[in-house]
Amino acid sequence: MQDYLIGLNEKQYIAATHINGPLMIVAGAGSGKTKVLTTRIAHLMANGVDAFNILALTFTNKAAAEMRERIEKMLGGNEARNLYIGTFHSVFARILRAEAPRLGYPSNFSIYDSDDSKSVIKTIVKEMDLDEKHYKPNVVLSRISQAKNALIGPLEYAEDYYLQQEDIRANRTAITNIYKAYTARCFKNGAMDFDDLLLKMYELLHTFPEVLLKFQHKFRYVLIDEYQDTNPVQYQITKLLAAAHENICVVGDDAQSIYSFRGATIENILLFKKDYDDVKIVKLEQNYRSTKSILNVANTIIQNNKNQIPKDLWTDNADGEKINLVRTLTDNDEGKYVATTIQEQKLRNHFYNKDFAILYRTNAQSRAFEENLRRAGIAYKIYGGLSFYQRKEIKDFVAYLRVISNTRDEEALKRIINYPIRGIGKTTTEKLLTASNEGGFTFWESLTRAQEFGLKGHTLEVIQNFITMMRYFQSLLKENNAYEVAMQVGKHTNLVKELFSDKSTEGLARYENIQELLNSIKEWVDQQENLAQIDEDGTLLENTDTETAKNAMSLGTYLQQITLLTDADKNEEDSDVVKLMTIHAAKGLEFPIIFVGGLEESIFPSGMSINTREELEEERRLFYVAITRAKQKLWLTYANTRYRFGNLVQNDPSRFIEEMPESFINRSSAGNSFNANNYSNGFQQRNSNFGNNTSEAIERKYGPPPTKKVNTRPSALPSQPPSIAKVIEHTPQPDFTPSDTSN
Ligand code: ATP
Ligand code: MG
Repeated sequence: MQDYLIGLNEKQYIAATHINGPLMIVAGAGSGKTKVLTTRIAHLMANGVDAFNILALTFTNKAAAEMRERIEKMLGGNEARNLYIGTFHSVFARILRAEAPRLGYPSNFSIYDSDDSKSVIKTIVKEMDLDEKHYKPNVVLSRISQAKNALIGPLEYAEDYYLQQEDIRANRTAITNIYKAYTARCFKNGAMDFDDLLLKMYELLHTFPEVLLKFQHKFRYVLIDEYQDTNPVQYQITKLLAAAHENICVVGDDAQSIYSFRGATIENILLFKKDYDDVKIVKLEQNYRSTKSILNVANTIIQNNKNQIPKDLWTDNADGEKINLVRTLTDNDEGKYVATTIQEQKLRNHFYNKDFAILYRTNAQSRAFEENLRRAGIAYKIYGGLSFYQRKEIKDFVAYLRVISNTRDEEALKRIINYPIRGIGKTTTEKLLTASNEGGFTFWESLTRAQEFGLKGHTLEVIQNFITMMRYFQSLLKENNAYEVAMQVGKHTNLVKELFSDKSTEGLARYENIQELLNSIKEWVDQQENLAQIDEDGTLLENTDTETAKNAMSLGTYLQQITLLTDADKNEEDSDVVKLMTIHAAKGLEFPIIFVGGLEESIFPSGMSINTREELEEERRLFYVAITRAKQKLWLTYANTRYRFGNLVQNDPSRFIEEMPESFINRSSAGNSFNANNYSNGFQQRNSNFGNNTSEAIERKYGPPPTKKVNTRPSALPSQPPSIAKVIEHTPQPDFTPSDTSN
C-alpha cells in the first residue's frame, strides 16, 4: 500500500481510492473529509492522472495552499504545483482573465470589492434621485448579490417573488432599475464584482459550447470541499464542467452549512444524488479531532435541529475534560477571564499561544478579548475586520495600479483623479462623469476629451498632465513587471513622499504600510518567476504572447489575488499567536483549545436570526461548527452585561446553553464582584485574581517569569508580505512561553 494511504480507516480508504465516477462524502465534523479529499488527489496523480487535469475547489485560499503542500509531501516532487486548487472565485477569475473578451469584458478587467460595488450603487441611487436612506448601498447590494447567486438577472428580478423582501417589496421596480443600472455600469467600467466571477463563468460555459468542451476536457477530475456551502450558480457551473466525464467528488456536512444568508443551499447535496445515477456515497463516522466530551456536547446540540441528514459520529479519542461554561459579570471580565486562562494553560500545561483560538459570533466582540490579551502580554492576531488591503492609503495606491491595468475602472479613477491633490476639483470631476454617463463612454475617455466638454486653462492642463503620467506608467509595462511599475508610481505621484513627510504616528504607519505593499508586490513577482503560475500547458495563454500582455496580465493577476483574499487567509501560519476570528472564518480549522465567547441571547443566537426555524437552525449549526473546532479543551463564556452600540445591555444566557448535556459541563463564574463561595472547581482562587492587572495576578500566583522573551518587530521593513486581515498586529509586550518556564 502506498504510504499516503496508511492509517486511513476502511471508509476513508474506499473514498480516497475511488477513481472514476461521481462520489459524495457526507459526514460530520472532524471525520477526515478534507483529509480524504486531499489523499484522493494524491491517489489520482499516483495513478497516472495528470495534475493539469485536476480541479479542486476549497473554501479559502489558505486551505488551497495547505492542500497543495500536503499533496506535495505525500508524493514528493513538485507536480502538485500544476494542480488547479483554489476558491471558486480565484479559480474562475483566473479562467476569466483569458476568456473575458468573449463576454465583452477586457481581459484585464478590474475586480470590484464590496466597497467599490457599494460606491457604484450609491452613485446610481443619487443619479436616480432615490431616497438614500431607504436604498442603503449595503442592503441593495445584498439583494443584487442574492439574485446573482441564484442566477436571476435584472429582468427576471422584477418578477421574482422570493427576492422581493418585505421591506422593499413596494419598490421592486426601483431595485430592479438599480440592478440594471449597476450591471451596465460595471460592464462599462470593465469590472466584475465578486458575484460576477461566478455568474460570468456560468455564462461563459453556458453560452460557448467550445469553451465548455475545452474546460470539460481540461478538468477531467473535479473535487469540492465544504460542499454544503455552495450556492446555485456554483452548483450549475460544476454540473456543467462535470457533465462529460462525471468525475466529480463532493465532500460536506449538512450540519455545518452556515452560509445560507449568502445564498448557499444544502439542496445541492440532495440534488447531487439525483443528478448522477451511479453516485457512490461514503459516510464517515469516526471523528479523529475531538475528545469524547467535546463530541458528545456537539452531537447533543445538533440533535435539536429538525432538518438534518441523520449521522452517527463517534470517537476513539480520550474522554477529555468536561466543557467549561463560565459566566462573567461584564464583557470586559469575559476578556480578562479568557486571557488569564490562556496564561494558566500555558504555564501549567505547556501550551503555546498558537494552540488557542478565540471564536465569536460577530467581529465587534473581539475588542474585549484584544484589550485583555494585550494587557496580559499575550501575542495575538485578529482575522477579519479591516484588512490590510482595505486601508485607505493602500486602496489609494492600488487604485493607481488598477487604472494602469484597466483605464475603464471608474471607481479606481475617481479615487486617484485628485489624489494627491492636483487641482481637479469636484465640479470638474462631476462634469466629466456626467458627460461620460450621457455619452455612454468611459470616465477615462471623458478625461481625454476634456476640452470638448468646456474645460480649459489650468484645469485642462492638469488633466492632460495626469493623462500623460498614467500613459507613461502603462508604457512601462512593455519592459517592466508589476513591482517596477509600482515603484515608478510611488516615485512620480509623490504619494510616498507625501506620506513620508507626515511625521505623525499615523503618517508613519501609513508610510510603512505602503512600503509593505511594495514588498508584497516584489515578493509576489519573485514567486511568479519561480512558480509556474501561468499555465505551462497553454490553456490560458492564448492572449498573452507579447511581453507587454504578459506584464499587464501579471499586474492584473496581482490585483486579482489581493482582492480575492478571504478573511481566513493568512501567511503567518507558523507565528506563535493566539488567533481571534469569527466562527464563519473558523470553518474547516482545528485548534487544541477553543474559547467561544458571548453565549448570550441576541448575540448567539443572533438577535436577527431567531424569527424562523430556518434561521435558528443555522445559528445552531454555527454553534456546532464552533464547538467542533476544539481538539482537547473547550471553554464557553457569557457575560451578564456588555456594551453594544454604545449602550450597556443585559442579555439572558444563550438558549444553546440549556441544550447542552449537563453531565459534560463544568459550570462556574468569574468576575469582580461574584461571591467566591458560590463557585466550585478552584474558581475561588482564580476569581481572587480578578480586578487586577492580569499579568500581575499571574506573577503573584506563579512568581515572576524567569526570562521574558520580547518579540519586537525589526526596525527595518519586514520581509514578510503584509498580513491580509488584521486590525492590530500586536507583539511588542513581554510574552511568556512554555520554554521560558523551564528555566
Ligand atoms: P470539518 O468538518 O471540520 O471540515 P473534516 O471532516 O474535514 O472536518 P479533517 O480536517 O480532514 O476533518 O480531519 C480532522 C482531523 O482528524 C485532522 O487533524 C486529520 O488529520 C485527522 N484525521 C482524519 N482522519 C484520520 C485518520 N484516519 N487517522 C488519524 N488522523 C486522522
Ligand atoms: Mg474539512
